Amino acid sequence: MRIILLGPPGAGKGTQANLISEQFHIPMISTGNMLRAAVAAKSSLGLKVKAVMDAGKLVSDDIIIALIEERVAKPDCEPGFLLDGFPRTIPQAEALDDVNLSIDYVIEIQVDDEVIVKRLSGRRVAPTSGHVYHVHYNPPKMEGLDDETGERLVHRDDDTEEVIRKRLSVYHEQTEPLILFYEQMMQTIGHPQCIKIDGTQSVHDIQIELARLLKEEKG
Ligand code: AMP
Repeated sequence: MRIILLGPPGAGKGTQANLISEQFHIPMISTGNMLRAAVAAKSSLGLKVKAVMDAGKLVSDDIIIALIEERVAKPDCEPGFLLDGFPRTIPQAEALDDVNLSIDYVIEIQVDDEVIVKRLSGRRVAPTSGHVYHVHYNPPKMEGLDDETGERLVHRDDDTEEVIRKRLSVYHEQTEPLILFYEQMMQTIGHPQCIKIDGTQSVHDIQIELARLLKEEKG
């Protein structure tokens, strides 16, 4: 089962990706988490991408494609994988198509821009586990700490209103066209299944609906 999660920043992709990954036993691959780990480790990749990420712009396709090609070739991806935050441009989607890993589902989580801006100010993430919380809507059991690993939660540098508006405009310009790209692919070759979901529902309701849709499709 190979799944792509699409949707604006803050739509809830990371939260749902974690849940789907646990439920269907497939690894969640988040390019954003991989890049943030590189930045935290101050690796040469991290040093290269930090300023671009802090400005809310996209890292170059070459870097991202190399990162993904290496990751999906690992043995844990054999039963499938779930991509969160990739592809984000048409060339990235074409590169994925070129490695002949056919995608079964593209899930678009839909949320309006103004809701996103409100949401992201309260978002907190666990850097290692990738778990995502919200101070009001989805708080951790212990304030400021990840439920599972106990690590300290952080407020991302790019979750400020100015940067989030920039990221939203980048999303509309460069990533949203992928929805049509995959709908056309579906019409031509019969996959991926394109699923749209209202991302303003509760985390639990979205999880239930997605699990139902994926199971149904799986037959
Ligand atoms: P995310 O956690 O998915 O919101 O990603 C955070 C930041 O990492 C983005 O704003 C980009 O700067 C960078 N990034 C993550 N994934 C990609 C991608 N597929 N292509 C280009 N840049 C990316």
